[in-house]
Amino acid sequence: MASGLKRKVAAVIVAAGRGSRAGAAAVPKQFRPIGGEMMLRRTLAAFVGAPRITLVQPVIHADDAALYRAAAAGFDLLAPVGGGATRQASVRAGLEALAPHAPDIVLIHDAARPFASAALIARAIEAAQATGAAIPALPVTDTIKRVAANGQLGGYVGETLDRSQLRAVQTPQAFAFTPLLEAHRNATAQGRDDFTDDAALAEWAGIKVAMFAGESGNIKITTPEDFARSEALQFAALGDVRIGTGIDVHAFGAGDHVIIGGVRIPHTQALTGHSDADVGLHALTDAILGALADGDIGAHFPPSDPQWRGASSDRFLKFAVERVTARGGRIAHLDLTIVCEAPKIGPHRDALRKAIAGIAGLDIGRVAVKATTSERLGFTGRGEGIAAYATATIRLPWGET
Ligand code: MG
Repeated sequence: MASGLKRKVAAVIVAAGRGSRAGAAAVPKQFRPIGGEMMLRRTLAAFVGAPRITLVQPVIHADDAALYRAAAAGFDLLAPVGGGATRQASVRAGLEALAPHAPDIVLIHDAARPFASAALIARAIEAAQATGAAIPALPVTDTIKRVAANGQLGGYVGETLDRSQLRAVQTPQAFAFTPLLEAHRNATAQGRDDFTDDAALAEWAGIKVAMFAGESGNIKITTPEDFARSEALQFAALGDVRIGTGIDVHAFGAGDHVIIGGVRIPHTQALTGHSDADVGLHALTDAILGALADGDIGAHFPPSDPQWRGASSDRFLKFAVERVTARGGRIAHLDLTIVCEAPKIGPHRDALRKAIAGIAGLDIGRVAVKATTSERLGFTGRGEGIAAYATATIRLPWGET
């Protein structure tokens, strides 16, 4: 590090709101998906992944415990604490939970801003280390009017404000931990519970608050229009569409069932092979690896390696899916065609789709399974084995190589 001691940095993620302005949704807005991923999961990922942050303290509503577990699965987080009746009370609960860990710096961030970048978080930490209290701010580009009196449409203009002196303020807001906790305790003790951000509370407590550059992409998702806009942004950001194909063949041998797409299908023979010979999952795995230009199933799971003998092939498909996720991408579609005379695949089509979707973590609407014979021609026609052909369509972030 360039300067001073390595200081302990924590983050409070405020996710206790009810989100009523985002429309009549069945769940609060922070648990609704954006680009296929829960808003809160995106927000948590940004902070869990921030290299300087060692403690992440979520604050949630007691009613949302089950939703929260889904949003936080697999992340290294402190146990969530229950929020209060106001945003201020929720932040206070998070700060009190962090107090025993004695962080030096704390970032307060709203779950409703899922697009905070790593660079923004780094700037917040740097600014708080330099000044003790700092908030991300952007110049206001719209002309801002103060309302004078209510009228039928939206009121009358009282005055036009000088926008050069105005800033739109975001989170994460970053503070030296102990003074902010003291300010929160004092505010509560004095009956103040109406501060809408932590900077306002800090200002009230006499703490000087600095500003640093915010991010136009760090939007607060509040209305249904915000959801629509962020879906469009996600779609555009994952615009690098790639398609891969995979082919696999396994021969019949002695047995009483085959496994295709993770589904056990009774048959007069079995497929032979090194693993469980799941011709469908092997083709799909290669299709995804193909779309990533990331080798093939044999390169990642060499048949010479005894640990894959008899292995359940869902692990191969899961591995390929994780390679997509690790590059910030998403699978848009999987399409599998099985070629054989027998067993009949058609009756099992939806069971295969469901199983593949489950393994890959996709909606079933993104998984197609088709079956055909080869009109008794070739090795499949002679009943010597089964062939599978797969296509994977994936979306990667722009800027990938
Ligand atoms: Mg194979």
